[in-house]
Formats: sequence, C-alpha cells, structure tokens
Amino acid sequence: MDSVTTLQCQNLTCLSPNALTNRFCEKCGTPLVKHYLWMMGDWVRTYYHVGELIDNRYLVKQPQIVLDTKPAQAPQAPDEPPSWISLYLKLLPFHLHIPQVYGYIPSPDERLNMDIWLLEYGAIPLDETGELIYPELLPTLAEVWSQASDLRQIHWLWQMAKLWHPLQKKAVVSSLLNPSLMRVNNQLLQLLELSKDEATAPNLRDLGALWAGLMPTAAANIQDFLASLTQELESGDLDRPESLIAILDYALQHYGGGQERSYEIFTCTDTGPLREHNEDACYPPTNQAITLAHGQNPLAIVCDGIGGQEGGEIAAQLAIETLPREINRSPTTDMEVYPESHSLVLEQAIRVTNDLISQRNDQESRQDRQRMGTTLVMAFAHAQEMYAAHVGDSRIYWITAHSCHQVTVDDDLASREVKLGYLLYRDAIQYPNAGALVQALGMSSATNLHPTVQRLIIDQDCVFLLCSDGLSDYDRVEQYWDSEILPLLRGEKTVTAVGESLLQLANQKNGHDNSTIALVYCRVVPKAEPVTPLVYAQAKERIIPDLYDQDFDYSGDTYSGEEVVTAIPTPPPASSSVSSHTSPPALTRVSPLVVGAIAVGVLGLLAAIAWQFLSPHPASNPSISPTPVTGPTPTPGTIPPAPVTSPSPTPGTIPPAPVTSPSPTPGTTPSAPVTSPSPGTTPPAPVTSPTPPNP
Ligand SMILES: [Zn+2]
Repeated sequence: MDSVTTLQCQNLTCLSPNALTNRFCEKCGTPLVKHYLWMMGDWVRTYYHVGELIDNRYLVKQPQIVLDTKPAQAPQAPDEPPSWISLYLKLLPFHLHIPQVYGYIPSPDERLNMDIWLLEYGAIPLDETGELIYPELLPTLAEVWSQASDLRQIHWLWQMAKLWHPLQKKAVVSSLLNPSLMRVNNQLLQLLELSKDEATAPNLRDLGALWAGLMPTAAANIQDFLASLTQELESGDLDRPESLIAILDYALQHYGGGQERSYEIFTCTDTGPLREHNEDACYPPTNQAITLAHGQNPLAIVCDGIGGQEGGEIAAQLAIETLPREINRSPTTDMEVYPESHSLVLEQAIRVTNDLISQRNDQESRQDRQRMGTTLVMAFAHAQEMYAAHVGDSRIYWITAHSCHQVTVDDDLASREVKLGYLLYRDAIQYPNAGALVQALGMSSATNLHPTVQRLIIDQDCVFLLCSDGLSDYDRVEQYWDSEILPLLRGEKTVTAVGESLLQLANQKNGHDNSTIALVYCRVVPKAEPVTPLVYAQAKERIIPDLYDQDFDYSGDTYSGEEVVTAIPTPPPASSSVSSHTSPPALTRVSPLVVGAIAVGVLGLLAAIAWQFLSPHPASNPSISPTPVTGPTPTPGTIPPAPVTSPSPTPGTIPPAPVTSPSPTPGTTPSAPVTSPSPGTTPPAPVTSPTPPNP
C-alpha cells in the first residue's frame, strides 16, 4: 500500500500527487509539509496496521501514528467537540507543551463504532528523507535525559513546574507524572496526551518522587541540588508550585551563567506587490544587521498597523517609537532574582503604548472602524531568558537546528473559539472572519487589553523570527523554515541574506499584504570555566522568604487565553473588535462565527446535560466521559450549529481561504483528549492505566 500512496501538494493551485519521499512538489516546487499525527487510544493498534490507508487519506506509518497524505484539505471536525476534547482546546495557551487536536475520523471501521481522534505536535524530528527519527514521534524524557546538559535538564524540570498549576486546574496534572506521556521535542517538554486525575489529585510530593528517579542520571553538577530539591518536595516542605518555579528559576540563572550569548538582529519590511502603503513597522531600523556582544540585551519589534486613512501607519510608528523608550526607562534592579519583573516591565510598556495610541484616536475623534491600532510582536532577551510578547496576529517562531515552533497564539476569532472549547483549530480557521482580530494595540483603553508575555529559555543556538502575516499566511513559515532559516544556524548564510530571502518569499508566494520580518539570531557558547554546583540551601535562602511575602503570578507568564476561557462567550464589543488589517474593511459587528459558537455552546451544554442523565456511567471512572460514538444525530432536537457561512467539509473541495485566515501552524498545539476511548462498551481507560488492546 505504501508504494502506491502519494502525498498531495499543499499548494491549493497545484494539489499534485507526489512520491512520499519527495521533499518538494515535483510540479510547483512547494516544500511538502508532512503532518505526522498520533491516533488516540491503544485500541487503534489492533485495528489499523502499518501501511493501511484510513479514510482514503491517513497512512499508518507506525502503530498509532499516521501521515496525512492530503494536508491541503481541512481535516474532519465534529459539530461539537466532546468535553474531553475541549480540555485540550482550552489549554491552547500552553500549546508549546500540549498537543493540538488536528481532527478526527468518524468511525472509519464498520467492525466497531469508534471515532479516531488525531493529535499533532508541531515540527517533530524527521530525517533528511522526511521520515520519523523516533518511532513514537518524540522520545520520552527518560530516553534523552542522561545525555542532556545541566542547563537543559533544569530547563525541562522548570517547564514541568510551570505546567503544574494550569494542568491541576483542569484536573489533568497526573499527565506530568506519567513517564510514557512525558516527551521531549528538543528543548521543549511535550505531553503525548493528557491523563485525567483520579479522585485523589496528585501533589508535589508525587512530582518529587518522580524527579528523584531522574537524579542518578542527572548531570554531575546538579545532582546535589536535585537531591535536596526532591527531598524537600517529597517531605512536603516545598508544597507550592510558585516556590518550586522560583527555585528552578534561580537554578536556571545559575547554570545559564555557564554560557555566553551573543546576538545578531536584522529587520526588513516591504510594501508588497499589491499594496500602495506600508502599514508595518519594525525596530531596530531596517536593512542593517546589528551585532550585540555578550551582556547586551537585544530587543526586536514588528508591528502591523490597522485602520483607515493612514491610521495603521501612524499607530505602528507610534508603537515602534514608544516601546523601546518605555522599556529602557524601567529600572532593572532586582531582576537577577525575579525574572517576572521583566515580564511586568514589558507588559507595562505595552499598556502605556496602547493608551498613547488610544488617546490619539480620541483626540482625532476616530470612531469604530476609523480607529487606528496595530498588532505587536516583541522579543527581548536578558541572560538566559527570552521574553516573547504579543498582541494581535503577528507571530513569533522559535527555530533551532531541529525544529520550528510557533510561540504565539493569534489573538483572533479562530483562536478564541478554540480556547472556549467550541471548535478545533483547523476547523475554526475555515470560517469567514476567522482571522478577524479580537484585540490590537490602541483600539481602546489598556484596561481592556490582555497582552501575552511568555518566558522562554535559551540554552542552544536558535533564531527567533518575528513577522507580520504577509509572511506567515498560508503556512509559509512551516513550509520554508528548514530550507530558508536553517542555513543561518549552520553558518552557511548571514542573517541579512536570510532576512532578505524571507521577504522575497513573502512577496512571491503570498504578496497580498505588507511583509515585515525581524530575525534575532542567538549564539550560545560555553564559558571556559564550568559552573560550580548550585547549593540548594543558597537558592532557597535567596528565594523563599521573599516569595512568601509576595503575591505575584508564579509563572512570570501572562496569557491572554486564561481570562477568555472563563468568560461568557459574547461577541466582541464594537470598540474592541477590530477588523484584521488584511481583511476587507468591514467586519460584521457580530461575527457569524461567534453567533455560531454561542449556538454550539448553549446547545452543546444542553446536550451534555441530557447525555449525563441518559447515559450509564462506568462505575470506575465517572469523570471520564468520552463521547459515545457519534451517530449521524448525536443531539436529537438540537439545531445543527452550522454558522451561516459554514464551509462544506467535503473532501476534494478546496476550502475557502479567507484573506485573513491565519495558516494553521504545526508549531501551535491545543490540547488533546484526556483519555483514549476504547472500542465497544468498554469503559474508557485513562492513559495512566492502559487497557490491553481489544481484538
Ligand atoms: Zn505542487
């Protein structure tokens, strides 16, 4: 079967079949993006075998792993995601660590009545021929732990600590304690699936016990530190995630001191072949590469202006002038101890900038769609930390020698529907208006603004790409990062050459909009003298007393997703809903997508309640309720929740590509099902206690 199966070109104007071994389309030359996907549920191993083509589309490459051979087509999505799937969706802000639900295959096998759910993990390690390096997509933490550096090991533990609280709130924190779910994608910790907590939720003692098992194979100069840390966790003396994060932050800083980091920045912008004005702006000034020595903190910004009568240009320029000034004004004392302070400084600078633009709007009596605003992406590095801030749909990508991860989640309607648990991302982006922004800088007062600031750790050579949607639309970064950006990391091209070629690519392949690019190239070299082992008591002494006096956000990250998820889904108020800059000028005030979503939400809730009463529950795991297999009418009596403009998911048809539609990004990952459904009437098994495969 494998020999005759072909991979369809993703280019919607081409769609030619290609040999699976091709890296570029034979006909149009577009790089072939391979989506390797995880099929949830052990049971699929029994029913679907390597070489089999499921649903005339998904080729089984390994047990439980398929390759999507028709990536140009939107995957099938349910009218209403079951509750255990919405859990993954609601964790979208943590997409760097939690898989995204790609789509599903409704009951492909008549022998059993079971849907297959597909998860994706962004760019996963592939060899030169595009085949999987690891047979299960990603290696387990245990497999790669002992070969990692001291800093990398602390980095992984820190990511687990930061995920603890968000996953605990969703009752899936036991996922972090399951060694088979704990995978690594290069520097990033990624969960293979989520696992539902039992009645007694795990606590940090359990995490301590798990980490104690890693201690013997840890890097020599963190062993003592780790021994004391796990002891404190296991004894219950260290029982707050925020204290744990603070201690690991201190350790990151200590071991990060064993490396020197230098930076090169290059920015460029172009109006594009079809536009008359360039409403983008960037910092530092364009077309000159800037080299920063060790100890200098790089700052790069890209803005994409929005608004009529040249307002977009003004807003973007105002932001570019204001942000660096505001950031430089902030005192940098105490930041050695609290990396959070940098996040706060950036967030404050964003708010000041927002209000400046907003006041200008008020002074000029700009109302509704005449108001000007701008998107923002900003990268600021300090020591081992990279702070990635954003508002709107400009993006930041994190590229290493092995992977490309989209760091930001667009502030648009599509992402909002996902975060509310209503739609799968790849389904949401099919809707007209999906790319309409839910917030931008300067549209209204900063009290309505929710900027996202993420903290990332630089422990290896890497490139941060900041760009406006002129480049990122239509998956261009996913298609071209390895051919265009990796040469920079390999020393084969300069940062200037890479920036210029990306801009050219944006104009040639997209061309519908202004394009702006900022590249931040980070080089990391070990210092001559190795770092001395960190003494745990020293870290604790510095951190804990201060920490208990304070009540700050323990993670140092802010996510615009959190408050949205808990909010009642209302259409964005006219003043804060902004039409995407690339869209036709008018955005209907109440988006059909939102109306549709509300319908889905309300009806979904009713259906869920009804199902609770009508369905027998497995005694053992009442909290886990994977959907019974969807028949054609899962919720009798409810109106199909199709928004007015719902695209038809018919295979073979090209999904409409709204101008504003963001490309689905392999780099982002919403959440995945808590448990794998098992076939027939067997109660679903949590991932932590796998069921033996059913024949
Ligand atoms: Zn092609």
